[in-house]
Amino acid sequence: MHYEPVIGLEIHAQLLTASKIFCGCSTRFGAAPNTHLCPVCLGLPGALPVLNHAAVDDAIRAALALDCTIHDTSIFARKNYFYPDLPKGYQISQYEQPLATDGVIRANSDYWTPDHDIRIKRVHMEEDAGKLLHEGFPDSDRRSYVDLNRSGVPLIEIVTEPDLRSAKDAASLFGYLRELLMAIGVNDGNMEEGSLRCDANVSVRPAGTDLLGTKAEVKNLNSFRFLQKALEYEIERQNDVLNGGGRVVQETRLWDVGTGRTIAMRSKEEAHDYRYFPEPDLPPLVVAPARIAALRGQMPELPAARRTRLVSAYALTPSDAATLTQVAPGLDAYFEETVLAGADARLAKNWLVGPVLASMNDAGEDAAAALRVRLLPAQLARLLALIDNGTISGSIAREVFAKMFASGRTADDIVEAEGLRQLDDESQVRGAIADVLARHADAVAQYRGGKTATFGFLVGQVMKATAGKANPKRVNELLKKELEAGAAGGVG
Ligand code: ADP
Ligand code: ZN
Ligand code: MG
Repeated sequence: MHYEPVIGLEIHAQLLTASKIFCGCSTRFGAAPNTHLCPVCLGLPGALPVLNHAAVDDAIRAALALDCTIHDTSIFARKNYFYPDLPKGYQISQYEQPLATDGVIRANSDYWTPDHDIRIKRVHMEEDAGKLLHEGFPDSDRRSYVDLNRSGVPLIEIVTEPDLRSAKDAASLFGYLRELLMAIGVNDGNMEEGSLRCDANVSVRPAGTDLLGTKAEVKNLNSFRFLQKALEYEIERQNDVLNGGGRVVQETRLWDVGTGRTIAMRSKEEAHDYRYFPEPDLPPLVVAPARIAALRGQMPELPAARRTRLVSAYALTPSDAATLTQVAPGLDAYFEETVLAGADARLAKNWLVGPVLASMNDAGEDAAAALRVRLLPAQLARLLALIDNGTISGSIAREVFAKMFASGRTADDIVEAEGLRQLDDESQVRGAIADVLARHADAVAQYRGGKTATFGFLVGQVMKATAGKANPKRVNELLKKELEAGAAGGVG
């Protein structure tokens, strides 16, 4: 029997505020262990939390991007459990009255799967716990260490309804969520540093039925590949259990990278009773409609809408639009400015995702912001105009670009100073052709004997003889004419 997978995701995203959610300690990643701490984030007796409203604004932005209903009053609650990375013995989260509920990510199959809407159940705010270090110390075989810098860092948790139907769709949707959160400036998308983490809930049921099966939750998947692999494995496993006459038990499982399997961590019976209750040290969070309206007004264009617009405004393909919006942050905005400064859209796109991006990587940079420091969109547009109007060839343009990138000089300046204009004087091109034909009589004879593949070789020789400054299209035309005229005249 074939069982249909049913998947829902719980995603934790670290907000980009400079300070923690309930104190003024820094959120910066990578500091020396246990240096960003105070009585509040250590949970010392008598220390009182004070809500960071910059974090609330970020959470509202995320809720707006996910089309949620944002509640005017939400409640912080204590989630009680005992673990060495949690100094207070409880985590401040939201439970019965979260900040936002009932959102949706609309299908847009040009850019991600699935091809149907995914409902968002809730978005709530909470604090992160510290981090246990099990490796890297001389006595790591006997002890674990704890770094509490992360304790109190602001998070949102996004919970989807169980609307996903394949491992691939789950990974794709997680990818889109990452992009969305980065685009609205609330998360840095850095999954290696743990800024974005995913728990996946999965069950199976007879295809075509409506009731939900018993789910397993796979914790802490911090890459798209692991998410997909863990779900594929888990779907197989549950299918096998049911087909073998067994039943799936509700449990929490872990993805084991080494063996490529999920392994049981704790069953429902061992599940925590978190004894949630309203946080007595924090008042209800009240969000005024005017605040939501103001944040809505500042929302940037969201990635899906942006791609759709790029396709229609600049006649790009969906895949070009996806590349421009995904390959480096801000490259799409840079592209639009280049086109507004007069560049041809396709040429601008090809250059940006080609040579321009390649040189940024060479220089150890990865963002469009770094590009602007060296080269403004209008300067790139001017370079592309020189190709477009035949002043320089594409290959010369690459040299000019490298020089612009390294020195900040303008394209015109470099072309003039270094004599890189294409030869408009056709007599020079004709001269070079005559020369090449005389020097390569063998190749000429082969061409005229029907081995036309040598044509490319002859073009290359002419380009070389003119130091790349001849117009390649014109060289092609003139060379072909010469070769054919010679053949008609019976030479060779
Ligand atoms: P719990 O109370 O066990 O935490 P929730 O209703 O809060 O369950 O859902 C947690 C996550 O699990 C959500 O992403 C939801 O979509 C998903 N989920 C719930 N039930 C199922 C199920 N039977 N199969 C797959 N996913 C499920
Ligand atoms: Zn603190
Ligand atoms: Mg839950």
